[in-house]
Amino acid sequence: MDMSLIQGTISGLKVAGDIAKGILELKSLSDVQGKVIELQSAILSAQSSALSANADQAAMVEEIRALKEEVARVKAWETQKQRYKLVRPWDAGVAYALKESMRNSEPPHLICTNCYESGRKSILNPLANSNGFVSYACPVCNSQIPTGYRGSPAPEYAQD
Ligand SMILES: [Zn+2]
Repeated sequence: MDMSLIQGTISGLKVAGDIAKGILELKSLSDVQGKVIELQSAILSAQSSALSANADQAAMVEEIRALKEEVARVKAWETQKQRYKLVRPWDAGVAYALKESMRNSEPPHLICTNCYESGRKSILNPLANSNGFVSYACPVCNSQIPTGYRGSPAPEYAQD
């Protein structure tokens, strides 16, 4: 936060207070009117500093909220990462396979290495090419690993 905004608010209010005290000692109406205008100006200036300080604080609150969300996302991904092991399931290409010891109730599956490196879990799905050979493809980044098989070659759990 910009501390000068708070300082500006405080000194603005002090000026307004001094002007108000001075008004009590004035004798003529025109002198009072002049001081009232001065007072209004000092109050407006203090208000403006206070509003800016408020906006600064709101921006910081939002920044903290976004950072907390990011930290939670990174922590959750770190936990997910531990459940997978890099394997070469068929002759060509590598993928991360779900470890059998970490499967919970999930069936064996592969996730994309490219998306994994970007901190995202993306499950590979079988895709038959025009010649009938099956590849496993990422729905997010479209990277593929060929199985070298026709039909439905299934992924297996990785052993620890
Ligand atoms: Zn991907």
